[in-house]
Amino acid sequence: MGQVYKIAVLPGDGIGREVIPEATRLIREAILPTSDLTLEIHEFECGGEYFLRTGLEWSKEAENFTKTKADAILLGGIGARGPDGTTVRRSDGNLAGYSVVIGLRQELELYANVRPVKLYEGVPTPLAEKGPKDIDMVIIRENTEGLYYPARGRVKETDREFAYDLRLITAKGSERVARYAFELARNRMGAPVDKVKRVTCVDKSNLLAGCQLFRESFDKIGGEYTDIAKDYAYVDAWTLLVLRKPEHYDVIVAPNAFGDIISDLGGALQGGLGVAPSSNIGNTHAVFEPVHGSAPDIAGTSKANPIASLLSTAMMFEWIGKKHNDETPIKIARQLRGSIEEVLREGKIRTPDLCVGKWSRVKPSTTKQVTDAIIQKMAR
Ligand code: ATP
Repeated sequence: MGQVYKIAVLPGDGIGREVIPEATRLIREAILPTSDLTLEIHEFECGGEYFLRTGLEWSKEAENFTKTKADAILLGGIGARGPDGTTVRRSDGNLAGYSVVIGLRQELELYANVRPVKLYEGVPTPLAEKGPKDIDMVIIRENTEGLYYPARGRVKETDREFAYDLRLITAKGSERVARYAFELARNRMGAPVDKVKRVTCVDKSNLLAGCQLFRESFDKIGGEYTDIAKDYAYVDAWTLLVLRKPEHYDVIVAPNAFGDIISDLGGALQGGLGVAPSSNIGNTHAVFEPVHGSAPDIAGTSKANPIASLLSTAMMFEWIGKKHNDETPIKIARQLRGSIEEVLREGKIRTPDLCVGKWSRVKPSTTKQVTDAIIQKMAR
């Protein structure tokens, strides 16, 4: 028997409790019975709904297992609304579930937030003249420092009031995420337009000191990767450039907050949050999660698209396989992605978010029906 992989599964709140169970169902029904993979699923409650019931964001057992025993972590959306309709918060004002999402990133040093922006056939994009052959890039967002690092405050004095968010950027943090981006580019096929392996540094280095260090670190590490083209854009200009010519981009690396914002733009180009997967990668640990949150507006309606979570699950298998030099999970990742691609291409089974444009006449399917279609493809 090969290695036993232990997966911590944290569905979280809202639609996280609908789409993450679909991922574990697919693992149980379509992967475990047909492969020699040995895998344990350890599921724990966490987030705002759990906090409302228990006063805790997650149990000690969940935290301990996730941080010290799990080989990989699969996470859903965090964020619940209380009985008064407002977001459930801790006494310090942070979202209930903050220590799960941000705590894991900080404590496990998950420094690279990886967000593939790939337009699959059968998925609508808002760019009228662009198609799947034009949109295939990966945005890497620095994930542990910058504007989102929890160093902020608010001061109220008799005659003035102000707030501040410290934006600390280090050479170490910038260099390691740049290296991740160059390594990733080395293993990809290059940009759609010219097949050139290219990493674009997206920053605001004409103005901000942190971005100047970020770009210097990018250049320093880039010097070791002579086979990969280096490319630069200021973040404001990039939003326009990517709409005009998405096919130019292969791998993009950006500081934390800028990376967060541009990857939502990427999410729109690839057909919306329902199909946008992500991972948070460190040297030893990794968390896989859909880009979307808990989407309370559609929770409980069976409208949530499970594909973002299933693509995140495929990323998880690929990462496990590469880390442990095990071909089986890599093959599973390929099969899962292929099955999702087929269902999307056929265009018949899809949740309402994808029933737009050319597909507006398709009768919307439920979350479960989409997973069932993918499971059927896996079985073949
Ligand atoms: P949170 O505060 O947890 O981030 P949110 O509602 O502010 O929740 P998202 O969860 O990212 O933000 O959702 C934004 C919108 O995108 C939702 O209103 C929802 O309609 C849509 N959406 C998000 N995820 C999906 C999905 N998997 N399938 C279909 N629609 C989705």
